[in-house]
Amino acid sequence: MKNPHGRKPATATFLANAGRDGRFAGSFVNPPVVHASTVLFDSIEDMVSPGAPYVYGRRGTPTLASLETALAEFEGAAGAVLCPSGLNAITAAILPFVGAGDRVLFPDSVYGPARTFADAVLARLGVTADYYDPTDAGDVAARLDPATKVVYVESPGSNTMEMQDIPAIVEIAHAAQAVVVADNTWATPLFCRPLDLGADVALLAATKYIGGHADIMMGTVTAGERCWPRLKEVHGALGLCVGPDDAYLALRGLRTLDVRLRRHHESALAVATWLEGHHEVARVLYPALPSDPGHALWRRDMTGASGLLSFVLRGWSEDEAAQLIDGLSLFGIGYSWGGFESLATIGSHGIRRTARPYRPEGTLIRLHVGLEDPEDLMADLDEGLRRMRP
Ligand SMILES: *Cc1c(COP(=O)(O)O)cnc(C)c1O
Repeated sequence: MKNPHGRKPATATFLANAGRDGRFAGSFVNPPVVHASTVLFDSIEDMVSPGAPYVYGRRGTPTLASLETALAEFEGAAGAVLCPSGLNAITAAILPFVGAGDRVLFPDSVYGPARTFADAVLARLGVTADYYDPTDAGDVAARLDPATKVVYVESPGSNTMEMQDIPAIVEIAHAAQAVVVADNTWATPLFCRPLDLGADVALLAATKYIGGHADIMMGTVTAGERCWPRLKEVHGALGLCVGPDDAYLALRGLRTLDVRLRRHHESALAVATWLEGHHEVARVLYPALPSDPGHALWRRDMTGASGLLSFVLRGWSEDEAAQLIDGLSLFGIGYSWGGFESLATIGSHGIRRTARPYRPEGTLIRLHVGLEDPEDLMADLDEGLRRMRP
């Protein structure tokens, strides 16, 4: 986006304009939803000559180009690719930078299915995965060796919400020529830009806040100049692409990201603060809370917090926590998050840790605080907690 008044537009202004280019949309505000496989040319000469904007549906359409352009600029990247899911964005962000004999370092708190990818796919390609303590950059240095080609970060971590010192980890990784890949799904580029913190590649489960309405599956990967050509090449070689309806919805989601996330932040902070004062709650895991161990890093590296948080119940079993969740009326029970609706799950279920054993003080509940009125959400939680422990 151009700078209309000689000043850099604020993010809300950027989001209202991003990817809105006459090349994609003509005179319309929004790009057309182009359903396409074949693109026709006037002649064979035209078909084989480089430089045609569109050559085949898988390789790009105006709908996809509009979204990619918006996302690349949003992340401050050289380019963006679109993937059919967030998990696929993880795999597409790692595969370009590893080969047989290489190693990948993941934080112990990484999104669970990334471990399954490491075990089921990377291991068979001869790539080994190791896991480091997400709160200790020194542990990255200790585990790094010349074969380590990718250092992965995800801040805050899935379910347990550990903030990571991304700039410190970048410094260690770059000293060893490793590429830093960052999963930025929780903060989104609205609140954190990993490439500005030194990461080489940033990915999002656009399924979550970019879509924002629990109706699409999508992932995005962006990269700085150094890693972009390889990422683009491998993404293309893997044959990855997304459908035009989903791309359209993701672009529509981007338009309201600023207002939605500010509300998620405000409501989640209210719920987190209230939970922290409750006698059944041992600990609330939410970096925007001053009591959170990652609060200082959050203040330094992020400009806001989203709606996902966890809390530990004082001595409750998983069965009791399940009964509490089953009895709530405003929190849906289901996978994923980032839509407009509130959700609750048991966050400690099946947590796998190898760098450091996971020893919670009790069962951990993960909440997605949606766009409902926070007073209603707190009343629902209050009633649920009272019902269980009068
Ligand atoms: C949900 C999630 C993903 C995966 O996204 P899908 O679209 O569900 O495949 C990746 N990373 C994080 C941090 C997530 O929360």
